[in-house]
Amino acid sequence: MKTTILGYPRIGARRELKFATEDYWAGAIDAARLETTAAQLRRSVWTELRDAGLDAVPSNTFSLYDQVLDTTVMIDAVPARYRALTGLDRYFAMARGTAELPPLEMTKWFDTNYHYIVPEIASGTRFRLADGSAAKPVAEYLEARRLGVETRPVLVGPLTYLLLAKAAPGSPAGFAPLDLLDSLVETYAELLERLAGAGAQWVQLDEPVLARDLGVRETEALGRVYRRLGGLASRPKILLATYFGAVAPEALREIAATDVEAVALDLVAGPGTLEALASVGGLPRKKVVAGVVDGRNVWRADPARVRSAYAVLLGLADTVELSSSCSLLHVPVDLDTETALDPAVRARLAFARQKVAELVALAADLESPNPPITPPKAEPREPVRFDARRSGREVRVAAQRARLGLPDLATTTIGSFPQTAEIRTARADLRAGRIDEAAYVEAMQAEIARVIRLQEDLGLDVLVHGEPERNDMVQYFAEQLDGYAATEAGWVQSYGTRCVRPPILYGDITRPRPMTVAWTTYAQSLTSKPVKGMLTGPVTMLAWSFVRDDQPLAETARQVALALRDEITDLEAAGIGIIQVDEPALRELLPLRAADREPYLAWAVGAFRLATSGAADATQIHTHMCYSEFGEILSPIADLDADVTSIEAARSNMELLPYLQAAGYANGIGPGVYDIHSPRVPTSEEMAANLRTALQAVPADRLWVNPDCGLKTRAYPETEAALTNMVTAARTVRTGR
Ligand code: GLN
Ligand code: ZN
Repeated sequence: MKTTILGYPRIGARRELKFATEDYWAGAIDAARLETTAAQLRRSVWTELRDAGLDAVPSNTFSLYDQVLDTTVMIDAVPARYRALTGLDRYFAMARGTAELPPLEMTKWFDTNYHYIVPEIASGTRFRLADGSAAKPVAEYLEARRLGVETRPVLVGPLTYLLLAKAAPGSPAGFAPLDLLDSLVETYAELLERLAGAGAQWVQLDEPVLARDLGVRETEALGRVYRRLGGLASRPKILLATYFGAVAPEALREIAATDVEAVALDLVAGPGTLEALASVGGLPRKKVVAGVVDGRNVWRADPARVRSAYAVLLGLADTVELSSSCSLLHVPVDLDTETALDPAVRARLAFARQKVAELVALAADLESPNPPITPPKAEPREPVRFDARRSGREVRVAAQRARLGLPDLATTTIGSFPQTAEIRTARADLRAGRIDEAAYVEAMQAEIARVIRLQEDLGLDVLVHGEPERNDMVQYFAEQLDGYAATEAGWVQSYGTRCVRPPILYGDITRPRPMTVAWTTYAQSLTSKPVKGMLTGPVTMLAWSFVRDDQPLAETARQVALALRDEITDLEAAGIGIIQVDEPALRELLPLRAADREPYLAWAVGAFRLATSGAADATQIHTHMCYSEFGEILSPIADLDADVTSIEAARSNMELLPYLQAAGYANGIGPGVYDIHSPRVPTSEEMAANLRTALQAVPADRLWVNPDCGLKTRAYPETEAALTNMVTAARTVRTGR
């Protein structure tokens, strides 16, 4: 029984790559020093994986920023505007921009929290192997071999690359990057020949795009690509790696008809992977690399499940090898660095390093004679029923109007105000024991008082306390709910040098005590204007955490929802009349395949409604979402039945509003009138123009005026200026109508 993994974290157990890269950007170290750190990290990963007993070690999983960007460089698909630059300057300019050049777009890697740099392909793009025999995968293969480690270079597959790319601005109508597939495949053919020439026995081509719904043309393209690459006279053996979901039977049939030697299948993300494989009669002439260890979550694998999957697979493949379900990039590096975890929780966990050891142990387990295990039965799913507010829209609107007395085009913000150096210092001081709890509370209250005064001076209608006490909108609640654990160093790369430390939701969620009431009521005590309470919704609490996998997500979301429901009751009892439940991750968790979306949306919307439906008619429930492409979640947004929904809209010129109306949304709406992602201060005329556009779709008594998102990443001068202009814009449009 052989073992491998599809990829490994590249940042280092102590985030060495992050710090070296940021030092390089700051001019504190030169390119040679950065490269020394990079080479050390590569070496330690390769030797560690080999010494752990893996049979096949991947290479080219290292990247200074992102593997998709590396591919863009490798095939010389660099857009013209960056070509005046060279080397690392060019590379980092594409990743993060320069004073003159904006960066390439960045977006989420499938449904993970990793972000890749989106390739921009023009109809005239000419692919070529930019560095020939010195191309990065060849160089890394040779580098590992010099260290005595035989590796399997990992490449982003050509189909995935082009399907993730976008057409360059100004492309002829109808042009899609996929049109250039055949020419890209010739570049990959050359690369495979070079890898073979360098001595590589295997190469891994990642095609996670197979976990999405593919059209006929794309499925045919898959067959064409791998027939061509499989048919090369001189090439390494090919492992075609799929992950993040089941592969459709049609795609499996195309793959079966090629000469690729091995196919990696994700048996964790499934469901349906084994069923799909069985439905096409398996891959009897190929090796199946069975992704049994979850590359996206932190739990140890269940040996019984692995054994039963293995038993099924044996009849469906020529040989079976054990692997991670996807690259281990998505989990923290090493559990051994954690010192404070509850031992009972810790015993259930495996980070990247521990997952490698698990694979080796699972393989040994499968080789030892074991009684056959009966596969666990799927648990019956409870149908989700939507909870409803006590009264319908009209009654609520009237009750809230009577209580709150807000003007048309009411102004507010999304919750956070700038997180200043003083706020961060106070938090760090509390953690380090330099100040006590009382001093911390005093510092936060002073900040809240300042923010309340500022909002009154600005003339905003609905105030917020500013969220100074929150390190992060999920972590803050995770720290207060039972059933959640925090790590000290469980960092995961989100993009480039940005790493996040998701909390671990390991058990039943309960709320031992109110979480936000003291801060919110303190803020309310300072003003006669309504202060909006601020909570993070159930879906977002799950999306930005590692979540237990021993019960359906729907059940876990329900538990979080019940805790929030109690919090809302407490806020109401304390006199808070407006409560916002943020769900910025609602779209993020949307399944990759259309068929899986309805059940997801049922529990996601159900959880939001369970959290909020206990609120009195006169309590105004807000929600907030921040993304520009809403696509399939417009009618689910209506289903949330929040009294007011704020959304990102400034960068897309309010164009979403008519669609939202058409999807049945008839409550209050706050389309962001200015983009908070940049320090630019828009004029009040600009914002007034946005409001007038919005008024074409939404009547004034339902239209709210707010920025696109929270202000925590901004500085005060631009925030004050922008909010001043925003209030002016609202007043102008109110009176000028
Ligand atoms: N209330 C949060 C804030 O203002 C919302 C953040 C978000 O949408 N990501 O920071
Ligand atoms: Zn937002």
